[in-house]
Amino acid sequence: MSAARVVVIEDEPAIRRGVVDALRATGYEVAEAADGARGAEEALRRSVDLVLLDLLLPKRDGLDVLAEIRKVRPTLPVIILTARGTEEDRVRGLKMGADDYVVKPFSARELLARVEAVLRRSVDRPAEVRAAQLGRWPQRDGGGLGGGHACASTRPPPPRLGARRGR
Ligand code: CA
Repeated sequence: MSAARVVVIEDEPAIRRGVVDALRATGYEVAEAADGARGAEEALRRSVDLVLLDLLLPKRDGLDVLAEIRKVRPTLPVIILTARGTEEDRVRGLKMGADDYVVKPFSARELLARVEAVLRRSVDRPAEVRAAQLGRWPQRDGGGLGGGHACASTRPPPPRLGARRGR
């Protein structure tokens, strides 16, 4: 199996550097972008397996980039990189179809574990199955993707809220 290809979209140089280095050291192929416009371009290349996406970005907002990714590649795994205290954005991201998120500051170990887990799930679950599940959710809670669940998790210190949607 060839190495998974990951795109890192993050405008803070120190964080981007750390994430890119950790991924490369683990054997992933990595492309990076420092703004949303460039990030969307990189993320939509055909060979990409997973996207790490900051939300507050120059040129194009992260949620906007996520919307475009979902339109073009509905099942491409996306993990949001987010700051503490921006829960609303995080919840919106999950509702828009992000697969998971990590809260800054995060450790390389945690990030790598989540990348691995999301990639594993995306292999286990072929595109058709995921699409079928996405289709079912709105009927259950009437609130769009994963509706009620993500909203319910509003306790103040939210370090590891599980971030799973709807299961
Ligand atoms: Ca940022």
